[in-house]
Amino acid sequence: MNFVVGPMILPGKTIGILGGGQLGRMLAQAAAQMGYHVHIFEPVGPSPAGEVARKEVNAPYEDLAALRAFAAACDVVTYEFENVPAAPLRAIEGLTRLQPHRLVLQTCQNRSREKNWLREAGFPHAAFAEVPAAGDHAAGRASLIAGIHEVGLPCVVKTADFGYDGKGQLKVMGEEEIEAAAARFAGQAVVIERFVTFACEVSVVVARTAAGEVRAYPVTENIHTNHILDFSIVPARIAPAVATAAEKLACAIAEKISLVGVLGVEMFVTPAGEILVNELAPRTHNSGHWTLDACATSQFEQQVRAICGLPLGAVTLHSPVVMVNILGDAWGLQPGLDRAPTEPAWAALLARPNVRLHLYGKVSPRLGRKMGHFTVQSDEVETALTQAKALKSGLAKAT
Ligand code: AMP
Repeated sequence: MNFVVGPMILPGKTIGILGGGQLGRMLAQAAAQMGYHVHIFEPVGPSPAGEVARKEVNAPYEDLAALRAFAAACDVVTYEFENVPAAPLRAIEGLTRLQPHRLVLQTCQNRSREKNWLREAGFPHAAFAEVPAAGDHAAGRASLIAGIHEVGLPCVVKTADFGYDGKGQLKVMGEEEIEAAAARFAGQAVVIERFVTFACEVSVVVARTAAGEVRAYPVTENIHTNHILDFSIVPARIAPAVATAAEKLACAIAEKISLVGVLGVEMFVTPAGEILVNELAPRTHNSGHWTLDACATSQFEQQVRAICGLPLGAVTLHSPVVMVNILGDAWGLQPGLDRAPTEPAWAALLARPNVRLHLYGKVSPRLGRKMGHFTVQSDEVETALTQAKALKSGLAKAT
């Protein structure tokens, strides 16, 4: 992929965002702060991003006329969600700049393409096998089981399309679990990955401009619960040499994929200090939300800078920080418990001078739904983590 370096898109111009979720909302806020106008394209409105933007268009992504009209009114278009279908975006080529390129989206939104890209580019990743979709159930079942045996147990079966936050995946720890995987995935296109026994999970958010400037944020350590990000810890509690290697790896990936924008690189760190890339997300990343409060330039401002061709901002960390996701669960919701949501106890959070609360304007809390996040800053990362855990459990306690 080769890109022409276009002129800078300066404040006063219009940025279009495909997707109206919280990432689009925080991007729109950063863009507005810098003096840009923001338009949102989102199938179902009103959306969290639409609430803070100048204009929101609600139409399916496959509505090419609506997509073209949207693009024609924007100086640059980006996406905040990797499941925006890539094919319709051909329709806006030539009408505006789309950053990152449609082909970057296409590679990252399908696990098979993503894993093959990592393999071909020589970036470290867990061993995997691909199983294509099959119309015939018995044939699909046989190739799935063959794929599991090829990779070996334990492994993780993941649907090739539209997966995030652990959706569409199943661990297969032993022979006795193969049957359940076959029942669930036979016939579907899947990727089967070797299960990685990791010491920790980390991520690096990296930005790159069309002129080739690249900057990686400090490595974030991530703790997931039920496959959803729970805590992000910065600096990551890993050896400095591993941190440097993770940052370099993210920069190399950004260059190799010809990124223009921001990319989240999720990685596993093994007990021996080896790094394996798990996933690429060609947009701002949940694990980078701490940059809003504890960094010289937020990942959202950095995305604006990258897609508009401005120089990138500094990525200096101001202080150790822990970010906590606030899910709908904090509204007192529990599986099988049918009761009206109750507002979390915000007062304890808001009383702390070192805590920043961010809510995304979503009206209906649901189990597992990302409603907001908060950050805790402290001179010591362990102090921030202890406080963050206490504040998180306090949020739901009042309910
Ligand atoms: P993903 O949707 O691929 O980001 O996976 C969600 C979470 O599942 C990851 O953050 C890991 O905690 C876990 N996971 C995914 N793939 C593997 C793997 N190959 N080995 C071990 N854990 C995994």
